[in-house]
Amino acid sequence: MSVDRNIVIRAENLNRTYGSNSLAPPALRDVSLDVQRGEAISIMGPSGSGKSTLLFILAGLDKPDTGAVHINGVDWQSLDGKARAQFRRHNCGFIAQGLSLLPQATAAENVEVPLLLDGVPIAERRLRVLESLQQVGLAEHGWQLTDQLSGGEQQRVAIARALVLNPAVVLADEPTGSLDSINGLHITRLLISAAKERNAAVVIVTHDPAVAQHADRTVTMHSGIMQ
Ligand code: ADP
Repeated sequence: MSVDRNIVIRAENLNRTYGSNSLAPPALRDVSLDVQRGEAISIMGPSGSGKSTLLFILAGLDKPDTGAVHINGVDWQSLDGKARAQFRRHNCGFIAQGLSLLPQATAAENVEVPLLLDGVPIAERRLRVLESLQQVGLAEHGWQLTDQLSGGEQQRVAIARALVLNPAVVLADEPTGSLDSINGLHITRLLISAAKERNAAVVIVTHDPAVAQHADRTVTMHSGIMQ
């Protein structure tokens, strides 16, 4: 691979078919994608076109049958176990559908999780949690239990948690899916601007053209093919 320090995601010729049934249509067919540092891209396409499969493979949460993904110049396939988890924490913020926040923990405790897993000392943890909550406009809500926050506020906690370790890349799967369109656009703008402030690339899977418009570039999936 040629080394281009501006490219933080390089996906090359990804193919993925689920299960052993050779009649199942491939979820991904020869998909390649480069994303630059600080760039925001959206992935659109109909349901079942392979968007989530691609996002999970970019995040190193699933493996392609063939092809490779390099994040910040490192091939996911070269990492296993602990090294893989640690690399993901430092390089890939992930915002899952449904957010996967801890509902009975406070907003601040949720944002603190990646720092705790990384062994960051308590004084620095407090500072970085506060900075991250401030960045998404939630500094005053850090003490509140997550399940007492509105849908939009919960999305902001998920953004703060995804960014707290300054990853090179943030991947978001339908981050505005549960919000009305005005709140959805507000959250999209916030996600993109917060990531850009930290020079992180953002990849957003969405079915909403208005959300996609806020990205620098949109790619479309159709039957596993990127167009
Ligand atoms: P999208 O995110 O665009 O809705 P997906 O990536 O979820 O699409 O799915 C792409 C294709 O792969 C679909 O045909 C879907 O049924 C299939 N698929 C996704 N996940 C699985 C799975 N865990 N097992 C079997 N097939 C799957």
